[in-house]
Amino acid sequence: MSSFEKFKETIRNEILEMERSKEKVVLFGGADVGIIAKKVLDYMDIEAECFCDNDPIKQSKVIEGLQVLPLDKVIINNKTFIVCTFSTYNEKIITKTLKDIGVQNIYSIYSILFIYKTRVVKYPIEEEQMLSSLYSFKEFNDNQIIENLNIPVTEKCTLRCEKCSALIPYNNNPNHFDKDIILNSINRFFEAIDGVKRVVISGGEPLLYPYLLEILEKVAKSPKVLSIRIITNGTVIPDINLLKSFRDMGISLSISDYGKLSHKKDELIELCNNYKVLWDVNTYSYNRWIDFGPFDTMRNRTRDENIEIFKRCRDWIKAGYLLDAKYYLCHRSAYISYLKVIENEEEGNYVNLVDYNISIEELKNKIKDLNDVKYLNACDYCNTRFGKIISPAIQTKEI
Ligand code: SF4
Repeated sequence: MSSFEKFKETIRNEILEMERSKEKVVLFGGADVGIIAKKVLDYMDIEAECFCDNDPIKQSKVIEGLQVLPLDKVIINNKTFIVCTFSTYNEKIITKTLKDIGVQNIYSIYSILFIYKTRVVKYPIEEEQMLSSLYSFKEFNDNQIIENLNIPVTEKCTLRCEKCSALIPYNNNPNHFDKDIILNSINRFFEAIDGVKRVVISGGEPLLYPYLLEILEKVAKSPKVLSIRIITNGTVIPDINLLKSFRDMGISLSISDYGKLSHKKDELIELCNNYKVLWDVNTYSYNRWIDFGPFDTMRNRTRDENIEIFKRCRDWIKAGYLLDAKYYLCHRSAYISYLKVIENEEEGNYVNLVDYNISIEELKNKIKDLNDVKYLNACDYCNTRFGKIISPAIQTKEI
């Protein structure tokens, strides 16, 4: 039996086993992936007992009607655990922790996602195609898989955060990004890669973008995408029809909680509940903001130092950015190039997605080469992801 056949059998057996045993399930991870898993369990009529999460802010809260507990408060006897994360790194750590304390039944998120993408959402993917995509994700190391693909759709925003990772306040003439350029970039990029675990639609404030639905439909129809998340700052209420589309396509809203600044957060949550839209709130207790430092001064590190800091960033997350018809590995690199802080940034720090003179095969190789670079020019303009931790969303009028 080929390893793909074995993979398919495992997925089908896991689903049958879940349906047969009807054992109570604990969902490890209370963010968007956990919430997707809860929806799938509801669809399969399987009872979930609780969420389990390491984030102290989430603990003791109620998400989707379930309590969120720290692991040491969960009774593990005869329980099935589903590890709800897209991060291969976190998946390994959580699985090992659970095994070490004697949990027997541990499922990864793949079987759940198979049900989700083939039966629950508005644009269901054909089963064999979905299995093939999931197989690529499982074989992560040999394939071109992006863990988080960020697609910024606009530079317009309702806030002016001094340390905005997209450098929005530094742009005196913010615009919506061209819809056709985004759609063409998505087309070419998705042809050339094996898959994306999570597409993150961002901005600026993406709920201000007039063509959001078209972008989302394009992404949601791809079998190469496991989930879609929109990051919003809690200041904008979308149109009800748009909210219903989020629900139908299984898109989740990640609502940033910046205290008083996010003045429409509660109204948005209530609407999400009313229209059954997936949502979670990011309090930044866990994923805190980082000060990447001034973006326009070189640090003058040695090549070896830049290689070292870049490796740490990439080990932490395999991210990608689609901006202005180019694919970048890092938000900092994307915006420094886009805002021309580095004049005429060299190809090799990005891939031009709309160069129609090259074939998809050549594009694939360029993306692979970029994914394998030792460091980016932008690294020398950056304090790295491991820079100073700062309070989120401090506003500025200065710039
Ligand atoms: S060092 Fe900065 S520019 Fe380089 S990958 Fe890390 S965050 Fe991006």
